[in-house]
Amino acid sequence: MSDFIIAVGHTASGNAGCGVVDRLDESKCTRQIGTLVAEYLQQKGYGVNLLRIDKSNSYNCEDCYERANQANEIAKTKDIKLYVEIHINAGGGSGPEVLVFGKSEVANQYATKVCNELSSTLNLPNRGVKIRDLIVLNKTVMPAILVECLFADSDDADKYDLEIIAKAIVNGLVEDEVSGNGEWKFGWNSNDVGWWYCTDIENKYYYTSQNGWQEIKGEWYIFDDRGYALQNCWYQDKNNNAWYYLDENCKMVRGSKENPLWKWIDNKCYAFDEHGRWIK
Ligand SMILES: [Zn+2]
Repeated sequence: MSDFIIAVGHTASGNAGCGVVDRLDESKCTRQIGTLVAEYLQQKGYGVNLLRIDKSNSYNCEDCYERANQANEIAKTKDIKLYVEIHINAGGGSGPEVLVFGKSEVANQYATKVCNELSSTLNLPNRGVKIRDLIVLNKTVMPAILVECLFADSDDADKYDLEIIAKAIVNGLVEDEVSGNGEWKFGWNSNDVGWWYCTDIENKYYYTSQNGWQEIKGEWYIFDDRGYALQNCWYQDKNNNAWYYLDENCKMVRGSKENPLWKWIDNKCYAFDEHGRWIK
């Protein structure tokens, strides 16, 4: 079983590079949450590497570069499933959001699940998955997500509960294998994580990334390594380097011969041709 890297955001409170201090003290919260997430994951049998930089930064964002470097060192000898960095947000908003860089479908799916779990268990608005160009996301070699659990400087702070937050994050991280408790159906199946497509009930065969694009009832789908259809995320096809977008129903977004299809994604409008390729 591969491991997780759990990284706590910022240096320790009071040092240069520490997080926001308001109704919540971010550095203290991230250290509490990160430690508990690691503990819960270990109880479930996962390997965990906990990264935490306590000393002051001597240059801008030093702690971020250090965590990314440490993570990449670990990845030289261990199979790392995902890098998860924990933060508390600031700016007076409300609700969790999870940041990813670029368009890693693995990171994207974990991000969606963690954000949904946090939003539903804390009963706070779901700000969703956002694409951000951040050091710990763009310098790490493995799929990476950055979790902004809730806000330190709004009424969100009243909802801060270490155990609830740590459990929600863990629930978002571990139910990752295709596994319906109930009967599998031929064709589409779903669980909390997403949708998969069974091609042989008896042997429990299903499409994965190995199978490439699949046309099902006139729509195109693509699946991740775990067998889940990509949903609300980008996909770059290595065969032609084109980017595609899979919508909320896991369908490839496509225009027609006459007109491209325009779609708003993360506050930007993108056009797609009749083959689903993003028109740059
Ligand atoms: Zn932060």
